[in-house]
Amino acid sequence: MNDIKPLFDDESMMKEPIIIAGPCSAESEEQVLSTARQLAAGGVKIFRAGIWKPRTMPGCFEGVGLAGLPWLRKVKEETGMLVGTEVASKSHIISALAAGVDILWIGARTSASPFAMQEIADTLKEIGRDIPVLIKNPVNPDLDLWIGAVTRIYNAGIRRIGVIHRGFSSYGQHVYRNQPMWALPFEFARRFPDVPVICDPSHISGEHDLVAPLSRHALDMGFDGLIIESHCNPECALSDAKQQLLPSELIDLMKELTAKEKPSGTPELDSLRGEIDQIDTELLDLLAKRMEVSKRIGEYKKAHNMMVVQLCRHDKIMKERTEMGEKLGLPKLFIGKIMSAIHEESVKRQL
Ligand code: PEP
Ligand code: MN
Repeated sequence: MNDIKPLFDDESMMKEPIIIAGPCSAESEEQVLSTARQLAAGGVKIFRAGIWKPRTMPGCFEGVGLAGLPWLRKVKEETGMLVGTEVASKSHIISALAAGVDILWIGARTSASPFAMQEIADTLKEIGRDIPVLIKNPVNPDLDLWIGAVTRIYNAGIRRIGVIHRGFSSYGQHVYRNQPMWALPFEFARRFPDVPVICDPSHISGEHDLVAPLSRHALDMGFDGLIIESHCNPECALSDAKQQLLPSELIDLMKELTAKEKPSGTPELDSLRGEIDQIDTELLDLLAKRMEVSKRIGEYKKAHNMMVVQLCRHDKIMKERTEMGEKLGLPKLFIGKIMSAIHEESVKRQL
């Protein structure tokens, strides 16, 4: 994918960070226009609103459907913003484009389905327009599935491609609604450096108060933009009520974020990174040495007919290392994870 084009021709839309904002769902003409007018007045250039909503449980609000498309056209005509919506099928794409929608995004439940992705790709190929398409990560943390979805869109001839990192679902209670697992979007960006990666702090956090800190964090980490949900009356939103910002809150956040320089190298930062590189090299050397000793222990155990894992020794190591780590200011959970990974690899060396 080395011939990716900018998402938009208009340079003002491409100013970094790219900010896309609007309600989770289009609910009524009044709600859409009121939200859009406030956002546009605050400088937002790209508006989002879900017309068709894929919901986990039937019976929830599933979007207004076709009735909402003229509202998006009104937003465009009145405010000059570009408008985007989620599509999941051929008929969605045809209707959205006929209504003048400028940007399509593919939701996380759809990008997890190769059949749906192929139908979308075939439709785009048939239409033959290089419309900007943003592909959200699939709900499950499968980088290949995400890349596969993006590749289908690319193979359909689309060159205005971006991806959205919206986190990954998991079982049980967590601080975030969807786990960020930052390593996946970073690996995506490493492999496809020309494709803009936009962070969706609304769906990652699921929580109004966490959207601003996550947005700052995402931009500090080098994401190219943000897609944030904003509703003129969040408490009454028909979907994702807990995570939507008032337009005024979003505008304040945007002012703060766009005032910041995108992180880039400075001599001081380069020198600190050099220190980190050195420490990592030493850590890797030590790990290799440790595995070598584990292998020798394995040989000894084999020669003396002993079992590889001795539970009491394992428990003792974990307890002692955690205590040592805590004395050095390292969190217990962190040490636990690292020591478990090291132990697992050591055991492999002894088998
Ligand atoms: C959305 O953007 O409102 C949405 C449904 O997102 P996701 O596909 O990330 O769940
Ligand atoms: Mn939503």
